[in-house]
Amino acid sequence: TNGTGNGSTRPLDWLADFPAIPEGWAYLDSAATAQKPRTVIDAIARGYGETYATVHRGVYQRSADMTLAFEASRARVARFLNAAAPEEIVFVRGATEGINLVAQSWGRAQLKPGDRILLSTLEHHSNIVPWQMTGAAIDVVPLTEDHRIDLDAMAAMIRPEHKLVALAHVSNVLGSVLDAKRAAEIAHSVGAKLLLDGCQAVPRLPVDVRDLDCDFYVFSGHKLYGPTGIGVLWARGEILESMPPWQGGGAMIDKVTFEKTTYAPPPARFEAGTPHVVGVIGLHAAIDYVEGIGLDAIHAHETALVREARRALRGINSVRLFGPEESAGIVSFAMEGVHPHDVGTILDEGQVAIRAGHHCAQPLMAALGVEATARASFGVYNGPRDIDALVTGIERVRKIFG
Ligand code: PMP
Repeated sequence: TNGTGNGSTRPLDWLADFPAIPEGWAYLDSAATAQKPRTVIDAIARGYGETYATVHRGVYQRSADMTLAFEASRARVARFLNAAAPEEIVFVRGATEGINLVAQSWGRAQLKPGDRILLSTLEHHSNIVPWQMTGAAIDVVPLTEDHRIDLDAMAAMIRPEHKLVALAHVSNVLGSVLDAKRAAEIAHSVGAKLLLDGCQAVPRLPVDVRDLDCDFYVFSGHKLYGPTGIGVLWARGEILESMPPWQGGGAMIDKVTFEKTTYAPPPARFEAGTPHVVGVIGLHAAIDYVEGIGLDAIHAHETALVREARRALRGINSVRLFGPEESAGIVSFAMEGVHPHDVGTILDEGQVAIRAGHHCAQPLMAALGVEATARASFGVYNGPRDIDALVTGIERVRKIFG
């Protein structure tokens, strides 16, 4: 099931897999969403254009075939994360929905008055707001000087009232990589569960949830070169078993009467309604694509690009870099006297697409002492040419702003 790339390990060949990236366009916004390889686009087109039907209900052959493909994708995701079983994989709309599911289902059942949740300064709003909505008190792990989650500080501040720790595996703003195993050890030392927000990790690092020893893991398909509207929540089997349903409706029940309804076992219990069938099919193709290249190769490729970008940007004296030297595929920076939005607009005139803003991480912006940053983020299709284009664009910004 792998090797659906072009069998090469050269980035320029990977670029050729992406029909929506025209010649000369430096797409440096993969942390927001990744472009799609031809194999994913074809899988989606086949899903609607050839094999389409609903799943789990049809008595006819087409629906039975689609159900097999749908469940094959679940098994593929389980292997991708090294989950213990496909039943530990819940399909959701994206990381945002996955975190809300845990907050509303696990949180409502487990969190009692006085319980606390531990987050970090660099979390995405989707790993902050759902926890605030549980009503639990929140504590915040600060960052190290080089903008990583400070695990020494976490070890010093964690206490038995903390029932859950929720952290980004890789920061969407800084590219900082969490030492997730150590975070799990610290969380478990007081009996807290660890949720990892893997949005930015799964496209750039090999992830093994059992090796990391976390309890929940979420990611979005669209940042992994897959479709929008599909994502994954993984949780340990026994935790999922213990969780009450979140949304009610079709597909999540065992038996319904007006007196009493009983629920299906996981994962169906958490998948109310007709699922995003073709999204699930497209996600399978996306996982085949990245594993066809290899996550180690992707990580090495992006790490080299980050090093090169940081080296080049450091040479420009009005540029301030954020984040650790060793970061995964993402570089945030600011230019003295220029708003990041202006940086982004001028770069766009030169065919360079970056993100400028708070990146849904306003508490992190406050901690960095800025309102916004400019962010370049990389994918398999990027190469040294894109960094040259970025640097040329930034030199232009400097000229325009004197
Ligand atoms: N967490 C992180 C670290 C992210 O980068 C993002 C997307 N920017 C999210 C969560 C939310 O993902 P989605 O919008 O796909 O649900």
